[in-house]
Amino acid sequence: MPVTATPAVVWFKRDLRTQDHRPLAAAAERGPVIPLLVIEPEYWAQPDAAHRHYVFMRDCAQALDEALTARGARLVVRIGPAVEVLAELRRQIGFSEMWSHEETGNAWTYRRDRAVQAWCRAHKITWHEFPQTGVIRRLKSREGWARHWDRLMAEPIVSDPDRIIPVPDIEPALVPPPECAGLAFDGCTERQTGGRPAALARLHSFLNERGKTYRRDMSNPLDGAAACSRLSPYLAWGAVSMREVAQSAWKQHAELRGDTSGHAREWRGSLASFSGRLHWHCHFMQKLESQPSIEHTEFHLATRGLRPRPADGQRLAAWACGQTGFPFIDACMRSLNATGWINFRMRAMLVSFASYNLWLPWQDTGLVLARLFTDYEPGIHWPQMQMQSGTTGINTIRIYNPVKQGYDQDPDGRFVRRWVPELATVPDAFLQEPWNWDGAADLIGYRYPERIVDLEATTAAAKELMFGMRRAADFHKASDAIQEKHGSRKSGMRITGKKSRARPQPLRPKAQAQFEF
Ligand SMILES: Cc1cc2nc3c(=O)[nH]c(=O)nc-3n(C[C@H](O)[C@H](O)[C@H](O)COP(=O)(O)OP(=O)(O)OC[C@H]3O[C@@H](n4cnc5c(N)ncnc54)[C@H](O)[C@@H]3O)c2cc1C
Repeated sequence: MPVTATPAVVWFKRDLRTQDHRPLAAAAERGPVIPLLVIEPEYWAQPDAAHRHYVFMRDCAQALDEALTARGARLVVRIGPAVEVLAELRRQIGFSEMWSHEETGNAWTYRRDRAVQAWCRAHKITWHEFPQTGVIRRLKSREGWARHWDRLMAEPIVSDPDRIIPVPDIEPALVPPPECAGLAFDGCTERQTGGRPAALARLHSFLNERGKTYRRDMSNPLDGAAACSRLSPYLAWGAVSMREVAQSAWKQHAELRGDTSGHAREWRGSLASFSGRLHWHCHFMQKLESQPSIEHTEFHLATRGLRPRPADGQRLAAWACGQTGFPFIDACMRSLNATGWINFRMRAMLVSFASYNLWLPWQDTGLVLARLFTDYEPGIHWPQMQMQSGTTGINTIRIYNPVKQGYDQDPDGRFVRRWVPELATVPDAFLQEPWNWDGAADLIGYRYPERIVDLEATTAAAKELMFGMRRAADFHKASDAIQEKHGSRKSGMRITGKKSRARPQPLRPKAQAQFEF
């Protein structure tokens, strides 16, 4: 491709890396580049935005700036609405091409992108957009989706450009501290550090040390924190690409092929489970891409308005800060508040408790969790919120018992004692249900709250309502339509026997479809 003198903008959004970055590679090949990051005050004022997201993004932007600097250009940081920032840059520099990845974001970013698109059209700017995950824009049918994902993930990694031609007379600027974006510290004292070097270190330690017991320990809130990859926030902000992660896992798996030792078998099982989850990442995001309304509106019509809004403020607050009187729920919430992460099963349990026992609307509890998860990814988050709240209409209703989960996942009480120190003296046998302990009289209602609801009664009421609703004559007709639009095609998820022409060969774990629909 000939080098042109006209500069092009590369708009970095949730793709803060130089490696495997097709828009950057393509733009750098053509001529001078303005690597642009826009800090949009309105975006950071959304109810799903949080201090922990911002500081993680800031780490990633800093690392990106270092990577760009090593290649000859600086990250150009601008503050303001994207259209205004682009208009100002156009006045200053006069670019006519913009390159970026497609984004599957929330309703706000969807509207923002449409405004940018209209502006580009009006000013004859060519905007080149590329997919960065397995999500397909304007998807017609889910048929063959899984095979498409495999093909895409097996494509060669795009090398980062050796040199980027900078645009002179353009100030780079730094990402301002979170206070400038109006974001106050939110108590996340043990947040993961952002940036590509941290992402690569996590990936390496997971694939070489931590991941061996992944399959066994992933649901345990203490051991799972080390055994899970913890790559989610890096994937959410694009510090590492899904393709890089998938190919690294496949490579590791391939190296263990033929080794019959227990050690290798354990690793292979864990890597297969992990690869399946990478698939789910995009499978869930595709739902929001195909139907953006599910951020606010139930999948299934019959479940609309099921839970009253606005939410009961007292229940919502008790759940959000770990004061429900159920030790395992409270420990999970407090841990999430302080670390910004909790494993999948605990996320599902927290939502189940809020939705079925506290009968809180998923839209409100979803916003609380969105702000608490450093890895908040709208495309995974909102479909998962609906799935765990029983509003998709086609998933198995799962109502978790937090007392049983506590005994199963935290048998020696290490996790509860760490996060709910008020219960330190309660014996193991009563730790998950301290109200049954002889010494409870001085504790409950004084140093630790009374149970906020009757667990058995609220579970029974929720079951009756949810299963009753499903027995209605026309419930399944609507479910079939949802399944048709969003469901995984099992045939596409299985090993077909045909060899993919692309390499390396992806993994197809047996349990892959377990949580999908
Ligand atoms: C109510 C609810 C909300 C969630 N919200 C988010 C979110 O905002 N952002 C997010 O990244 N994940 C979300 N998840 C999915 C999952 O819990 C996290 O991806 C996972 O716990 C992140 O930790 P990890 O990177 O160590 O995951 P690992 O277990 O190591 O998995 C590797 C990667 O696979 C993907 N993945 C794993 N589990 C799932 C899953 N169940 N569905 C889709 N993708 C998956 C993620 O990209 C993850 O980083 C949510 C789950 C629930 C139940």
